[in-house]
Amino acid sequence: MAKAIESMVVLITGCSSGIGRATALRLAKAGYTVYATARRVESIRDLQAVGCNTLALDVTNDTSMQQAVQTIEAEHGAVDVLINNAGYSESGAVEELSSERLRRQFETNVFGVHRLIQLVLPGMRDKGFGKIVNLSSMGGRLTFPGGGAYHASKYAIEALSDALRFEVRGFGIDVVLVEPGLIRTGFSEAAVGSMTEALAKPSPYGDFNQAVALATKEVYEKGVFSKLGGDPDDVARIIEHAITARRPRARYAVTASAKVLLAQRAMMPDWAWDAFLRAQFPQPGHDAAKSDARAPAGAS
Ligand code: NDP
Repeated sequence: MAKAIESMVVLITGCSSGIGRATALRLAKAGYTVYATARRVESIRDLQAVGCNTLALDVTNDTSMQQAVQTIEAEHGAVDVLINNAGYSESGAVEELSSERLRRQFETNVFGVHRLIQLVLPGMRDKGFGKIVNLSSMGGRLTFPGGGAYHASKYAIEALSDALRFEVRGFGIDVVLVEPGLIRTGFSEAAVGSMTEALAKPSPYGDFNQAVALATKEVYEKGVFSKLGGDPDDVARIIEHAITARRPRARYAVTASAKVLLAQRAMMPDWAWDAFLRAQFPQPGHDAAKSDARAPAGAS
């Protein structure tokens, strides 16, 4: 069913920076009724000037998610488009990830996404219309060392979305995965920030953690992969395309970095992929001295 753009009500999470902010700006400019949200609502006040409605929404807080959806439903009946964008990377070696950090990763990147989907679906089903866009990553289909928690969360989003796409199609609801590669946003700073404690203490993974942190910063700035990256609006443009397409694809890889690395991963057997990674990262317990890693660790 085609809908007029101005009557389409869009809820976006994580609009304080990066892809969420760019998507709010682009969709508001295109005439959608946009609800831009962030856990610190003051960080998105300026989006009101371009026509966005703004709401507080922390995807780890059930009450805040319920209140946001209730506010929109009271004003418009239902959310037409949900863009689950909020997310970050808890980076570092798997052994050293505390259960608490792993849970925190899943609370934001997986459970928040699932809960918001649950909250908007009854309204979408009543209208017989809805679009759910889940920000996954190329890292939902390939894994870099030092990104175990993040990749696990994005693989989970891929599986949930694949099941959901089948389950809600008959109600007139499309589910789309967006899989960006390297996008220049606040992502790398948050990823390196999540490693502060791990980097400060002595560890058998010391050199490895240093290399992961360095690569996470540098991959967006230098080297071949940075040239294949993109800006937040490159993702926003694909999201706009996906929500307007009559028959959207199940998944959209965004940027050359995602397309190249996903193709490379699909062609390589596991042993060849591992050998590729060994050329990029110092291997803990083996060659701790190699510290010039340049591959997209913990990225995307
Ligand atoms: P940014 O760090 O710029 O933006 C992340 C956003 O998520 C921020 O607005 C942040 O808000 C928000 N957020 C984090 N935790 C919560 C929470 N509990 N509740 C609500 N909002 C929260 O990174 P990106 O724009 O790059 O990331 C957006 C999405 O894109 C993520 O899901 C990420 O995994 C994905 N992605 C990014 C890639 C990249 O290379 N940049 C590549 C592939 C995927 P706050 O300011 O409050 O922290």
